[in-house]
Amino acid sequence: MKITREKPPRKIVVIEDNLMNMELTVDILEVAGYKVFTATNAEDGIRLVKTEMPGLVLMDISLSGMDGLSATSALKKDPATRHIPVMAVTAHAMRGDEERILHAGCCACVTKPIDVQEFRSKVSQFLNCEPSNE
Ligand code: MN
Repeated sequence: MKITREKPPRKIVVIEDNLMNMELTVDILEVAGYKVFTATNAEDGIRLVKTEMPGLVLMDISLSGMDGLSATSALKKDPATRHIPVMAVTAHAMRGDEERILHAGCCACVTKPIDVQEFRSKVSQFLNCEPSNE
């Protein structure tokens, strides 16, 4: 049984420019009971994060225009949004990429194609996690 203290926000913002990936991600999250908000580019995504203040952001790294790394850095530099965990979703599984992704401020990285079990478990693990010290 899960012990809940204060009820955390169950909102998740998904920033993804591939519509098939988006659809799959949203399906998985909605079935799991989350309220999902979507954006297909970084600028809209950042705006959405600021208005919805979700418990987690899922960030596609490869976006046209501003990429997911820059978008993550922007969210992490803003005192209003820096506490919101950002999980990278990327097709690039290379070692150097993961380092850059974590360096940009992401809490974790999920590799495409998504493994549904792993994805759901990482989402619940990182949703609303507070930074250890700020
Ligand atoms: Mn993409």
